[in-house]
Amino acid sequence: MPIYPHKIISKLPDVGTTIFTTMGQLAKAHNAIDLSQGFPNFEPDPELLALVAKAMRDGHNQYAPMGGLPVLREVIASKIKSLHQRTYDPEKEITITVGASQAIFTAITAFIGKGDEVIVFKPAYDCYEPAIAVNGGIPVGIQLNKADYKIDWNHFRSKITPKTKMIIINTPHNPSGTILAKEDMLELQKSLANTNIIVISDEVYEHIVFDGHEHESVSRFEDLAARSIICSSFGKTFHVTGWKVGYCVAPAALMHEFRKTHQFNVFCVDHPIQHALATYLQQPQHYLSLNGFYQGKRDYFLNALKGSQFTAIPAQGTYFQLLGFSNVSNEDDITFAKRLIVEHQLASIPISVFNMNGQDHKVLRFCFAKTHDTLERATEILQRI
Ligand code: PMP
Ligand code: GLN
Repeated sequence: MPIYPHKIISKLPDVGTTIFTTMGQLAKAHNAIDLSQGFPNFEPDPELLALVAKAMRDGHNQYAPMGGLPVLREVIASKIKSLHQRTYDPEKEITITVGASQAIFTAITAFIGKGDEVIVFKPAYDCYEPAIAVNGGIPVGIQLNKADYKIDWNHFRSKITPKTKMIIINTPHNPSGTILAKEDMLELQKSLANTNIIVISDEVYEHIVFDGHEHESVSRFEDLAARSIICSSFGKTFHVTGWKVGYCVAPAALMHEFRKTHQFNVFCVDHPIQHALATYLQQPQHYLSLNGFYQGKRDYFLNALKGSQFTAIPAQGTYFQLLGFSNVSNEDDITFAKRLIVEHQLASIPISVFNMNGQDHKVLRFCFAKTHDTLERATEILQRI
């Protein structure tokens, strides 16, 4: 007689299927326009695809070095130096990862143990808390208010305890589309002075910031940089979310510890893709043009919604736009999002799933990383509601 599954004591008893899978499957079943999960519905640059094919033909088909391809790490270091004026040693302070998800999971696993508290701002991207919990840590949520999703730094300071080991920030922020300003980063830096708290800074949307604002990476702030593990992703920047290649940047002592876990977690990452990215990343216009590209899509989406019943505060970054629907329905956001798919063939993400205790702000998240035609059809549907 098999003893399983009866004897499984789950480490994650409250975790179910992610909202991205749930809404994506429902969208497919109803042939809906899918603005739910965040991914572009257009192709990456053919030049980048050609570089991957070339790397494969050139024979880069076996394991890559554990920390990542040296030349790719060097280009990342010079990108950070030129954008944020911080020098990282490519050999000891940069690691190539299986997307930002693995960087985040590995960083949490490397540093969080039983009873350690990790402060997380809610709504929060969904991969942080399970990673904390599975390692025995305790996620300490701070709910942001739906008017502007700004952080109240006094409230934040009141949540720091002797058990606080880590804090996770995310700018530009998924799902709210807000960014942290320089003043926020200085407040964070001040709050953490004289502590040993580690920061995970999720900067996957670092190259998608609008209206002339700058991305305030933790690497710009000396004391923050000294305690921070920056996680980023090529998936967002080069329209290749399915490649799952990203990177992690941290001072040598933190990175040394990170790699102890990383080498047994994945050891190394897709080799030909690293070769292609190393060449492609040497041309800054490939990432510097992204702000304007996505700002155009955000503006098209918002303009096409003028006069509709949905309310919006323009996203400051990311490729997500929140829309309030309280003028349209008083259903909870999950029910309304499902009805939008079933009755109107349009899929979005209800953001209550990222809030504390499923708080419902009557707000849905729409991904505008889509072709003009898709955005046109989606906004026509929203205008009719
Ligand atoms: N953090 C945030 C805020 C994200 O939106 C995503 C994208 N899914 C990730 C991390 C994970 O990135 P990746 O797909 O590179 O693992
Ligand atoms: N980052 C993507 C989003 O926020 C989701 C990726 C996933 O499905 N885990 O939509």
